[in-house]
Amino acid sequence: MIVARHRQELEAGLGRLRWGGERVGFVPTMGALHEGHLSLVRLAREQCSRVIVSIFVNPTQFGPHEDFSRYPRTPEKDLELLKSAQVDLVWTPTVSEMYGQGEMISIEPGPVATTFEGAVRPGHFRGVLTVVAKLFHQVRPDVALFGEKDAQQLFLIRKLASELQFPVEIIAGKTVREADGLAKSSRNVFLKQSERTTATALYRALSAGHAMLANKERETSKIEQAMAQVTAAEGIDVDYLTVVSEASFAREEFVAVPARLIGAVRLGSVRLIDNISYSA
Ligand code: AMP
Repeated sequence: MIVARHRQELEAGLGRLRWGGERVGFVPTMGALHEGHLSLVRLAREQCSRVIVSIFVNPTQFGPHEDFSRYPRTPEKDLELLKSAQVDLVWTPTVSEMYGQGEMISIEPGPVATTFEGAVRPGHFRGVLTVVAKLFHQVRPDVALFGEKDAQQLFLIRKLASELQFPVEIIAGKTVREADGLAKSSRNVFLKQSERTTATALYRALSAGHAMLANKERETSKIEQAMAQVTAAEGIDVDYLTVVSEASFAREEFVAVPARLIGAVRLGSVRLIDNISYSA
């Protein structure tokens, strides 16, 4: 496994991997790897002859009061996991390697980036799309794999790739969960034991909404109320808990199917997001 920390090392590594028309799959991550990330690596392996993973905790997608400095970092363990998963190249640049040229130019992510995650985290998606665009230019993958876990991010990355015409195919991976339904997340390590138990309320709320859609309920506010009852019973603070259309990622008064139930909650200092898709 090649570990590249500088652009020259990346270029040299890509030169070695790319001979003879290899199909290159790329999984961007912020490290602190878990089974969710590894499922994307396996999906890449199924689709591609070469697999590249990046590990980069991107400062520009964190707000000034967010958890950039305390975001979990486990570099040695990450490299071991990626080696066992037979990854060909790991791209792990420093912040100055990524942003040394300055930050004057960025990607304007459009109106969907101001709702839900973007409303709570202003500037977040500008940072995400800018770093993903840089990574696409650096790695030049044929396929890039992202998790459904971050559904709004996935929606915007698909738009980035199609509207800016990156020659890359975007593939989505299913959300990997703990046995009790909690979506795996690098931030779960920060949950205290009591919070870890109540954290399942987010998935239970989304599942309750899903059951209502399956029972033909289409009034968004009714579904929202039912989901809010589940989190309220656990005394959890909710940023949002609603249903959006898959096509527009917008909330509508009556649910347009296919739809996605989305939610974000806070447990102490930890913020968790999750979602479930619904199609008839
Ligand atoms: P992150 O390191 O949190 O930026 O995530 C890197 C990639 O892994 C993103 O495409 C995420 O959507 C994806 N991912 C994170 N958690 C999960 C999960 N539980 N299941 C599947 N994919 C995930």
